[in-house]
Parts: sequence; C-alpha cells; structure tokens
Amino acid sequence: MKMIGLAVCALSATVMTAQQPPATTTTQPPPAPTGYQDTPMQPNGKWHVHDGTRPQPTVVKPGPFVSEAPPADAIVLLGPGQDLSKWQMQEGGGAVSWPIANGELSSGKGFIRTKEDDFTNYQLHVEFATPSEVKGDSQGRGNSGVFLNGAFEIQVLDSYNNKTYPDGQASAMYGQFPPLVNASRPPGEWQSYDIFFTAPRFKGNTLDKPDVVTVLHNGVLVHNADVFWGPTAHKKIDPYAPSNAKGPIGLQDHGNPVRFRNIWIRPIKEHD
Ligand code: MG
Repeated sequence: MKMIGLAVCALSATVMTAQQPPATTTTQPPPAPTGYQDTPMQPNGKWHVHDGTRPQPTVVKPGPFVSEAPPADAIVLLGPGQDLSKWQMQEGGGAVSWPIANGELSSGKGFIRTKEDDFTNYQLHVEFATPSEVKGDSQGRGNSGVFLNGAFEIQVLDSYNNKTYPDGQASAMYGQFPPLVNASRPPGEWQSYDIFFTAPRFKGNTLDKPDVVTVLHNGVLVHNADVFWGPTAHKKIDPYAPSNAKGPIGLQDHGNPVRFRNIWIRPIKEHD
C-alpha cells in the first residue's frame, strides 16, 4: 500500500508541474521592447523607425528648475486653479475627466485636447512630472505626450536611467528624431518643455513647407529648427495631410499617471 501511495503522489506532482506556467509570467510582465528593426526605414535612409541601435543621446544634467510664469500676452491653457475650460476630451468632445488638484492635472483615461483647434505658429510652455514611484520600463514608464497641431508628438517619458529607442525618449520628435541630448530630471521632479512651432503649409492639397520645431527640455536645446517628416505614429511615419496646417494642443493618455501644470501658449506672427 505504501508503494502505491508514493506512486500516486509522484504522478500528481508530475501533472502539477506540467500545468504550472513559467514563473516569470506570473510575477511580472515581460520587459517592454527597447527598439525595432522590422519597422520602415526613415526617409533619409539612416535608421529604422524606433531603431534600438541608434546612439543613445548624451545625458546632460540641467540647471536648477525654473517655472516660467506666463507672459502678459500668453493664453493660459492650464493655470494654478482647477480651471479646465480650455480643454475637452479628444474623443466625443466632452468635459475632461482627468483628475486635477491645485493646478496639477494628472493624465487619466483618454486623450485630451484644447478646444481651440486652429493654432498654427506658436511658443508653447508645458511643465510635467513623471510618477515618483518608478513602475515599468522603456515606453511603459511615465509615458504621455504633447501633440502639436494634434498630430506631431513631442514625447513625454521618464527617461532618467530608462533605456528605450532614442526616437521615443523624453522630448523626442516621436519616431523621427531623438533629442540632441538627454536633459531629463529624476522621476517625480517637475520638468519643462519650451516648444517653438511653425505649422506646415500647403498649396491646395500639396505640401509646400513641412512644419519646423525647436524645443528646450529643462532649458536645454534638444531640437534646433528640425523638420517633421509627417505626423508622428507608432512604428511608422504618417503622410502629411492638409488638415495638419492647423490644430489643437493635445495631451496623451498612455496608461501612466503623468502630472501637468502651468501650460501656456503664445501664437506668433511673422515680422512685419
Ligand atoms: Mg507618448
């Protein structure tokens, strides 16, 4: 009887072992990809979109943080109070459901955008902070984004000791150009983008001049009059469309609670 009992136990143990999934799938998700080689080549033929072998931008520690108050002629999109009247949900146009407290808007479910949807050329100031509690990796850590004309993303990400594909790190022209340097602050700290944007121009349905962007990340130049190849997208670059000539400012929901505050914009004209 004793031998039979042992045999049954051994059989049960074998069956249970065979049914158990590998330990890694039950304890934590697999690491997020840090690059792709199966994506299209970018138009200049140098790198794939999201190429993980592209050099990582040099880390540059920025100077002390300075919160730039809006100049007198700026349109305040997000001020120190609870006022979200300049914003709406991107889908459906309803009231913004993201939580806000003391002028800090935390990204929630669904993209949001400004109600104003005919911005063209402008100076845009944005302050943001990725979560102080570090969760996830690569594109899964502190991901959001600032969408220019609703179509061209300047990436928001926790890029402090967080490897990802260079054209997807913080302040990248997403999927197109990495920042010239990585000027990220640690998670939880306030950071700033100052973005100078000139909208694309069209003659009829044909692109005449692509859009041009200059970006400061924490006061450090990371794009110097750089040109988008088209609207930004994941694993591809979309073609220009005449609708890109104007648009709203958008903020992305990527499943991570990124805080925003002190957002203002100054539409700019050409010299007389
Ligand atoms: Mg993003």
